[in-house]
Amino acid sequence: MLPTRSLTLRACSGRCFWLLFLETAVTTPADMDLGAARVFAVTLDGKAMAAMLRAQVKKDVDVLRQQGITVGLAVALIGDDPASQVYVRGKVKACQEVGIESTMQGLPATTTQAELVALVDLWNADPAVDGILVQLPLPKGIEQRAIIDRIDPSKDVDGFHPFNLGLLASGRPRLVACTPAGVMHMLKVYGQAYGWTPAGKRAVVLGRSITVGRPMSLLLTNADATVTVCHSRTPDLAGRVAEADVVIAAAGSPQLVKGAWIKPGAVVVDVGIHRSADGSLCGDVEYSTARLRAAALSPVPGGVGPMTIAQLMRNCVDAAAQRRGITFA
Ligand code: NAD
Repeated sequence: MLPTRSLTLRACSGRCFWLLFLETAVTTPADMDLGAARVFAVTLDGKAMAAMLRAQVKKDVDVLRQQGITVGLAVALIGDDPASQVYVRGKVKACQEVGIESTMQGLPATTTQAELVALVDLWNADPAVDGILVQLPLPKGIEQRAIIDRIDPSKDVDGFHPFNLGLLASGRPRLVACTPAGVMHMLKVYGQAYGWTPAGKRAVVLGRSITVGRPMSLLLTNADATVTVCHSRTPDLAGRVAEADVVIAAAGSPQLVKGAWIKPGAVVVDVGIHRSADGSLCGDVEYSTARLRAAALSPVPGGVGPMTIAQLMRNCVDAAAQRRGITFA
């Protein structure tokens, strides 16, 4: 027998693809072993959602190509941080898959601020470059903020430039940071399948970084949620999470959010990603207990990570189109 949520899904009509896909995600053999009456969180399957997003991006890349436009992304990788190398390889591969032309410039850790500024300026002026991405973190000696500020905001596909953050804060988002934008896309897909919306809900965002927490809180505010931002100095984190209908965990602390904190029926997105000593990955949420209380939960791996890269592809195409005043149907 299937868990109750799956039976509910079967009774639904419309948007069949997503309903079927979500149903498959929720009825794993392990779930069924634990007892048929149990209701588990719907898995927010980032891999599947990212594949759908990339497919749409590919179509839009083709639309631009028919107009003689090749979308171009330029990536700078400074130093030899192994994690950054993996991320950049993933981004370049994703570009190939959707038909975006990527240029990767590797530079030594000894690169100076002036040299990196010169490279950014070169790409700012290059009409073949639609998106500029400087992989973070930067080696010591290079001032990160100054580099971000140097990127032409219309090519700022990471969405970290103060101009783009300002547009988001004023409710007129243009290029939005990929991870929070990817999370919003996940919430949208879930909402379409289940008739759910962040509007009117209480949302808690753990983390206030420029890259994740802060833009996330602005996106949720723009989507009419009532948002509380928690950070390293927030007292009674458990109490704040317990009030929330939507929890976005981006504190960078392994399994910080316990299942017992979560309001039954909340939608929980786990942005954190951590490698344990045994090589396995986990997030900021204690997955095994959270899935017993949440209505929907993103896994780690296979949740927000793939969405971030797919959203980067989306931003590249949007940047190419916006610069030329093109809108997609
Ligand atoms: P960060 O270190 O820049 O920021 C962490 C934020 O969490 C800070 O604002 C800090 O005040 C807050 N914080 C720290 N401890 C806290 C606590 N106990 N309670 C509440 N808030 C607390 O990190 P980041 O770049 O924002 O990333 C956060 C996490 O998301 C990390 O695990 C990172 O690896 C992950 N991440 C994943 C992706 C992805 O694509 N999956 C992308 C970006 C970041």
